[in-house]
Order: sequence, then structure tokens, then C-alpha cells
Amino acid sequence: MKAKTCLYNTLSKKVEEFVPNEPGKVAMYTCGPTVYHFAHIGNLRSYIMEDVLEKYLRFTGYDVKRVMNITDVGHLSSDGDTGEDKMLAGAKREHKSVMDIARFYTEAFFQDCEKLRIKRPDVVEPATGCIGEFIDMIEVLLEKGYAYVAGDNVYFDTSKLKDYYVLSSQKEEELQVGVREDVEEDTNKRNKTDFVLWFTKSKFDNQELKWDSPWGVGYPGWHIECSSISIKHLGGYMDIHCGGVDNIFPHHTNEIAQSEAYLGHKWCNYWFHVNHLNTRSGKMSKSKGEFLTVSLLEEKGYDPMVYRMFCLQSHYRKPLEFSYEGLDNVAAAYEKLMKRVASVPEEGEAEDGKVEAYRIKFAEAMGNDLNTSMGLTVLYDVLKEDMPGAAKRKIITEMDSVLSLGLERAWEREETEVDEELSAYVEQKIAERAAAKKEKNFARADEIRDELKAKGILIKDTREGVVWSRE
Ligand code: AMP
Ligand code: ZN
Repeated sequence: MKAKTCLYNTLSKKVEEFVPNEPGKVAMYTCGPTVYHFAHIGNLRSYIMEDVLEKYLRFTGYDVKRVMNITDVGHLSSDGDTGEDKMLAGAKREHKSVMDIARFYTEAFFQDCEKLRIKRPDVVEPATGCIGEFIDMIEVLLEKGYAYVAGDNVYFDTSKLKDYYVLSSQKEEELQVGVREDVEEDTNKRNKTDFVLWFTKSKFDNQELKWDSPWGVGYPGWHIECSSISIKHLGGYMDIHCGGVDNIFPHHTNEIAQSEAYLGHKWCNYWFHVNHLNTRSGKMSKSKGEFLTVSLLEEKGYDPMVYRMFCLQSHYRKPLEFSYEGLDNVAAAYEKLMKRVASVPEEGEAEDGKVEAYRIKFAEAMGNDLNTSMGLTVLYDVLKEDMPGAAKRKIITEMDSVLSLGLERAWEREETEVDEELSAYVEQKIAERAAAKKEKNFARADEIRDELKAKGILIKDTREGVVWSRE
């Protein structure tokens, strides 16, 4: 089905109608995790909402190609160019090699995604697999005069761009705040906002992974990986780029600078940013307070689907505060929802005019800047609707291909419960029949066989004993 999709675009700062470059196709890129530790549920809020966006676009008929990088090098402990590499800090913490850390936490990330029913992107590319491509891109930037070498590092020259702040609309003065994080200023930089494309000299000279390059042995900056990996797999024109709001500046701002300088034209049309999940005491963190992971929620008895529903109840552009009370409320609502879904019988015609009407209603809700809580309301409306059970099941299944709340499990649960009940009944009848036979009461034994047959159950005497099946 084709539906009008409107999305807030960080680039224009407006809700706009989404129109892809190529009709029917969407080229989508997601900044992947930095695999130095487990993802916290804040990181996963971003991935859940991006997953809903991708699935919604597929629901409306788009052919989506989604690419994600895995940051396994270059992301320093500050988003500026200072601090130690996060991967190296992870390796030190656990007395392992950087590659072991990367492998372990990449797998852990995808396990969390699976639990939350987040689809794996079509292409997943670790940064360390693309060093040659990064070097090629940096060489072009140098040739075109957008980059310079200073103090044995390669920097991007932000003063060469007309509109460096196109995405973030930061002003020089405001930037002072952002820069404060970088306690020490890098005196090699020509402009405060210049950033490193390739390091050969850093204060932290203990980098485990280094590669040869035209500028000496070193390692790439963080931003170059997303520009390079996305262009490698999606070409020079991208439709949607996703990430959390903290990525707007400097990461995405720098990605635009590099990519457009390299390509010589506008690169990505829509920027989709998910606001943060916070705790009561502020920003979610991996080092301070309780480290909130999906596994921790499971240990505390929560189904990961409850956390997914917790995220879907709020709009992705609003900050969301996490609390166990809030999660408990959603857990109760989820249990009720599953019961209501389970009670929808598999009966009647699946083709009903109301199915298409609800399809449209759902698309309208979700197409309104991904209003997931409205999408959930439409799901509740379906449950209340007077329509054949089979038709209800059909539209619920379609909607859940986007919401991914594992609703089909309600029917599996119901079927197993019914099976268990039936099986206990049949086993009891078989035992009664065996007793009747033992007493040579063959008339009663035949009667039991007929009683079961009337219920659609066939029994057969075999050498191994009595077996039964449905007709
Ligand atoms: P990282 O692993 O630090 O590269 O972050 C992975 C993703 O999580 C990025 O898209 C971040 O913008 C996003 N992110 C980080 N913190 C939060 C948060 N508290 N809530 C939502 N998203 C977040
Ligand atoms: Zn990125």
C-alpha cells in the first residue's frame, strides 16, 4: 500500500513529506554501536525507533536498503578529538585484545536486538574492515583542498565550507560550550571546529590497532567511517540517516562536511534523530548508577517486549524518562494486551473490508511523524471492532510486522494451552478404555473409541501402545 509519510527532518527543522530519491526505494543509514561495552537500554531506544521506521516504510511498500556500521576503532572517549579510544579503554578494563572486545560486544549487541525484535540491517560493516576506503576518501579530501596535514595528523578544514552548521545550527559562541569538554585544545587545528580524519600522533600513543597510510602508521577518526561506509553501500545519494540526538553535533555535522566535500553535491535528504532515554538523575550512562541493559531487565523478570512497548508509547522526538514504576505499568498493559489478542478466535473470513480501512488508519498514524502511540491506539481499536476473528488476526499480524511486539505469541500460547488440555483428556479416555478392555468390557471400550471419534480424535492400537491423532 502507498501512504503519505511525514517525518521531522533535523536538516530543515520541519515535519516534511518523505519523498525518496528513487521512487519506491529507500536508502537508509544508521550509526551503529561503539562495541566497547554492552548497549544500555538508552542506546537501544534509538535502535528500536529506527527499526520501527524501517519496518513502517516496508509496510507501506518501499524497498528499503539499510546499512549500519560497527564502530570498533576511532571513537574517542569524548566526541571531539581528545581522550582515549573507547575500544582501547574497554580492552584494558577486561584485559583482552581490542578485537576480542569488538567481537564479544558486537555479538552481545545483536543478541539484545534479537530479544527486542530489532531487525538486523541489510548490511552491517565494521569500521576496521574498511580502512582502505577511508584512506581513499581522505586522499580525495586532501586533493580537493578540504583537508590538511598538521602535526602528523590529517584534519578536515571546516572553514572551507559555506555552511558547516547546516544540520546543527550551532553558533560560534554556543560551540564554546561543546568545546569545553575538550579540556586541552589541539594546537594543530586551524579552526576550532576542524576535526581529525587520520591520527598518527595522539597523546595516547598506545593504540592497539594501527594501519599504514600515506601519512604514516595510524588510525582513522570516528566520523570518516560513517561517510565512507554509507557511500560504499548506498552510493552518493542517501534518503534517511538515523541516530540519537547526541550524534547531531559533532558526528553528523562532520559526516555532512566530509561527504559533501568529497561528493561535490548534497548527500542526504532526511535526518532522523531519536531523543534520549534518561534516568531520573539525568543522562543514561554505562559507568554511573545502575547500568541498564536488556539482560538486567530480564533478570528482574521483564519480558524485553515490555521495554519495546515502553518505547513505542512515547514519541521518538521527546526525551523519555525511565523508571521501574513506568515499566511495571507497561508490563501490566502488555499482559492485558496479550490476553485480548489471544482471545481473538481464528474464525470467519480473513478478507473483510475493514482490514483495508485499518491498514490505512494505521499507516496514517505512523505516517504522521512516526506516531507510535497512535499506532498502538489503532491496534486497540481493532481489538474492539466488530469483525470476523480471522480478519482481526490478519490486520493485527500486519500491524505487528511494524510494531514487533511479539503478538503472534499470544496465539501460539493459546494453541499450546488448548493442546495440553486436549491431550490430558484423550490420555484419560485411553486409560479408561484400557481398563474396560482388561475387564473384558469391549462394549465400553468401543463406546470410548466412538466418543473420541465424535470429537475428531482417532485412536489406533499399535505394538507400542495406543496412539492418537486428529482427524
Ligand atoms: P554509541 O554506542 O555510543 O555509538 O551509541 C549508539 C547509539 O545510541 C547512537 O545512535 C547514540 O546517539 C544513541 N544513544 C546514546 N545514548 C542514548 C540515550 N540515552 N538514549 C537514546 N539513544 C542514545
Ligand atoms: Zn555515524
